[in-house]
Order: sequence, then structure tokens, then C-alpha cells
Amino acid sequence: MVQYVGVSNVVELVRSVGIETFLLGLVDYIEEDFRRWEEFEKSPRVASHSKAGVIELMPTSDGQHYGFKYVNGHPKNPSVGLQTVTAFGVLSDVATGYPCLVSEMTLMTGLRTAATSALAAKYLARKDARTMAIVGLGAQSEFQALAFRALLGIKSLRVYDIDPDAASKFRGNLAETDIEIIVTKTAEEAVSGADIITTVTADKRNATILSDNMVGGGVHINAVGGDCPGKTELQGDILRRADVFVEFPEQTRIEGEIQQMAPDFPVTELWQVIAGQATGRRSDTQITIFDSVGFATEDFSALRYLRDAVQGTSFYTELDLTTQPEDPRNLYGLFRQPAPAMQRSVA
Ligand code: NAD
Repeated sequence: MVQYVGVSNVVELVRSVGIETFLLGLVDYIEEDFRRWEEFEKSPRVASHSKAGVIELMPTSDGQHYGFKYVNGHPKNPSVGLQTVTAFGVLSDVATGYPCLVSEMTLMTGLRTAATSALAAKYLARKDARTMAIVGLGAQSEFQALAFRALLGIKSLRVYDIDPDAASKFRGNLAETDIEIIVTKTAEEAVSGADIITTVTADKRNATILSDNMVGGGVHINAVGGDCPGKTELQGDILRRADVFVEFPEQTRIEGEIQQMAPDFPVTELWQVIAGQATGRRSDTQITIFDSVGFATEDFSALRYLRDAVQGTSFYTELDLTTQPEDPRNLYGLFRQPAPAMQRSVA
């Protein structure tokens, strides 16, 4: 039997501990895995592009466990009542090759993306950063807000979305928190005076969510929405003025903001900053950019965290995903067993 953590179990698990506590625990796992970066097998994700979006597989292994996530990105889905991003993931035991955990990963993607963003900002934003702008108030946005509140104490947000309903949803969802939210009429107004700028819009094109004149010295940009070839959010001139930090350069050069730049455009790998091998922020006037695209190790950390979090709880069920013949060579024998023995239910 394989442990299965579905959507309702993730919701209940997160509710049981509180979302900010859950996010902080997740940050620890992600940070720990960034620190041991060199132990991981790494490759850019495998992407299948279509006019409507992309379907991706994101595998990695630390030699003990193997994990992958299936994820899509379809920016026009909300217009037909579907989400832009949905995902599920698998964690397996390398020694036997058997899967040990299957999980929903749509919620977990929102959580791990936000946890990674906040972790990067812990190393890259100014220590006195207090205000964040968020441009794009879709599915990822509340997770971003809560992760920055939990890890960096950001309680003042200036937010903008082209769709006013998205802003109302965002404000409503965070109404019971102590986060002060100012909804603005333009992206320019949102970012004016912000110490941290998060861009998390969805549009499959080279958009200009931030133009060069909108970004002053000392700002940290958490660029989340540009995560696919032909899909960016920042004007190239901002990248030239800034220091850019990435997850895995081989993937980010294809998918991130730096796809606009020459192949040798200088970047620093985030893991090196976290492991103390490279410098993050050097001055209060420097512009730093986390060019986030989402990397397989972050999903691996999320799966590892989830597996540990559900042990000894009722927040998982068992899935008869793998066959278990008494004689491992007698797979065919399962067809010869009486019918009831075959009807092990999906719990
Ligand atoms: P979503 O469709 O739920 O929300 C996107 C929001 O952006 C919508 O509310 C839309 O109205 C708004 N928007 C679009 N264009 C805009 C503009 N020009 N100005 C202001 N707002 C604008 O999508 P989501 O699930 O929140 O994901 C957002 C983006 O983040 C997607 O592009 C997704 O692929 C990406 N993403 C990245 C990572 C990562 O690890 N880097 C992880 C998950 C999602």
C-alpha cells in the first residue's frame, strides 16, 4: 500500500497546525535541501508545450528518495472555471524503486512556492524591509502574503490585479489576519515605496508587469510569474541594473526572466547563498531579483515534509497502487485469485 495525501487531507493537516506554522516548517525542509544541493540529481524539467499552456514533469533524487511532480500551467483556464496550475506528486524509495507517497500538489505548490520566495527574501531583501507589493492576485497570492508575514514579519501590502474581483477575493481571504492591505489602481502605484515587489501574474507572453522606471534602489524583486519560455514579467533593463539569483541556471535560462538575456548573463545560484558560499545582498542600494521558476528539489522538500508530517496521524489514506503478489514472480496469479481478494478498496 502507498500512502496517499489528497486535497482534503492537506487542507485538514494545514488547518490543524495553522498555515503559518506549516509554512515555517516547510521553509526549514526547503532550506535544508538547498544546503545539501550537491547531493541531488538535477535536470531542467521536462516540458510539453501547447498553445494553451504547458504540462511538466519535475524529477529529482537525493540517492535515498526519488520524487517528481506533474504540473500544468494554463493561463486561460480561469476563464472556463479551471485553475491555471494543478499538480500531484510522488515520492519513492530509491533502494526498492517502490513509491511510498502519492500526494495532491496544487495546494502544496502554492505553499512551497511561497515558502521558497520568503526563504530567498530572507537572504536577499533588506533587513529593514517592511512593505511588500504584490502584482497578480490569483491562486498563489495569499500563500505569498502569508509566507512573507510568517518568515519576515511583512504586515503591510500594496496590491494590484487587472481584475478587481481578484483584489476583493484576496482582501476577503486575509481579512482575519493583521495584514494591512492597500488595493491600488495600477501596478505602478502598488510598487511605489515598496521594499519587496512580488510579481505573480499569469499570461503566456513577454509581459511588462514592471518597467525599469518603477524600480528604485534597495528593492528586492520576487519574480514568480515568468516561469515558461515566452512568459516573462520584467523589463530587461531591470535585470541589467540588478543582481539576479536563480534556482537551477540550466532551467532558469530557458524559463525565467533571464531568458531575455544573453546565455552568459551573470547569475548567482540561491543554494550558494544559503550554504554561505556566495554573497546575497551587499548593500542597501542594490537591487536583488529572485528569478523564481520553481525547481524539482522544492517539490521534493515538500513531499518529504508532507510524508513526515502525516506519520502517526489520520491525514492520509492507503492506496492500492502497487501489486503485492505473495510470490513476486507470480504477478499473473493475481488474476486467478477469487474476486473478493482482488477488491482491496482505495481507502
Ligand atoms: P492565476 O491565474 O490564479 O492568477 C494570476 C493573476 O494574475 C490573475 O488574477 C490575473 O488577473 C492577474 N494578472 C494577469 N495579468 C496581469 C497584469 N498585467 N497585471 C496585474 N495582474 C495580472 O495564476 P496563479 O496560480 O496565481 O499563478 C500565477 C503565476 O505564477 C503563473 O504564471 C504560474 O505559472 C506562476 N507560478 C510560478 C511558480 C514558481 O515556482 N515560480 C509556482 C506556481 C505558479
